[in-house]
Amino acid sequence: MITLIMAASIPMQSVRVVKSATCGRKLVATSRFAPGQCILEELPYVYTLCDNTRGLYCDFCLKKSSTLKKCSSCNYVRYCNTSCQKRDWTRCHKQECKILQKIHPSPPDLHGAQLLSHLIRKQRKSTPCTQDNEDCFPTTVDQLESHLSYAKKDNIESLLFVLQQFFEEDVLAEPSSLVKMYGVINCNSFSIYNNDLIAIASGIYLRASMVNHSCDPNCTWVFDGRKLQLRTVKDVTEGEECTISYIDNINPTKERQAELEKRYHFTCKCVRCVEEINSLEPGDGLSKELRGLKKSLEQIEDLEESQDILRCHLSLFRK
Ligand SMILES: [Zn+2]
Ligand SMILES: [Zn+2]
Ligand SMILES: [Zn+2]
Repeated sequence: MITLIMAASIPMQSVRVVKSATCGRKLVATSRFAPGQCILEELPYVYTLCDNTRGLYCDFCLKKSSTLKKCSSCNYVRYCNTSCQKRDWTRCHKQECKILQKIHPSPPDLHGAQLLSHLIRKQRKSTPCTQDNEDCFPTTVDQLESHLSYAKKDNIESLLFVLQQFFEEDVLAEPSSLVKMYGVINCNSFSIYNNDLIAIASGIYLRASMVNHSCDPNCTWVFDGRKLQLRTVKDVTEGEECTISYIDNINPTKERQAELEKRYHFTCKCVRCVEEINSLEPGDGLSKELRGLKKSLEQIEDLEESQDILRCHLSLFRK
């Protein structure tokens, strides 16, 4: 009975993954939704508290409490109660408790190394997906984008230093696999916010990581503890792509484009960017990249993107 209630509360059929010719995979709505509806609910694949919120929130359920109890062995992690402690022991703390005892007080960026070590351990235990990779929700991190060529050597080396302590005698992942996992975290990790919109933890959500960016998104994500909910902020029609904004989308086009390039390694071609770039006259402060984007947009032959541009032109025409 409990299983049935839980299954009913997670609207698995509200969205599906579709392979796109232009942006890898995308998430589309399987029916019509009004603003404010929850279309995806997911627990994290891996997650860990941020270093600066440690001690204020439970390491397992991420709920705030003034009566958290420390693990008496490592004196590092804290829990609401024995239920959270037991569940976290199975999740990750069994492997980490002894190691944390040794490296406490914590070295810098323990949070980043912890998340990476959780991901590597989980990836080792996972079985590769046998379904067609492109048209299903990912079941392992191997199916997530990593933008390997952008992984920064310096950052990896400093993380590796901390990470080595997490694995003791254990063999570290193959260097190529380690770099891939590092890239997966950089490209896909979600900041987990509390009710005051302060980031308290980071996590990887396999299903939610299929949602692409738009500077004018139709969805947003909210958290209940560690549970992520994807909610609509506009009317979404059946078959429409569900999008969120990866960045602060109140910034002007040029700044949004630069931030998306730097952090997520893509040039945004959302309807809003196309519309705003098209409304700029040549030479009025367009950067080289934006001029390049404007030119490439003019040359796009792909049907899907042409439709977006067409919609955009039509909306301008109607004004
Ligand atoms: Zn708890
Ligand atoms: Zn412990
Ligand atoms: Zn955009």
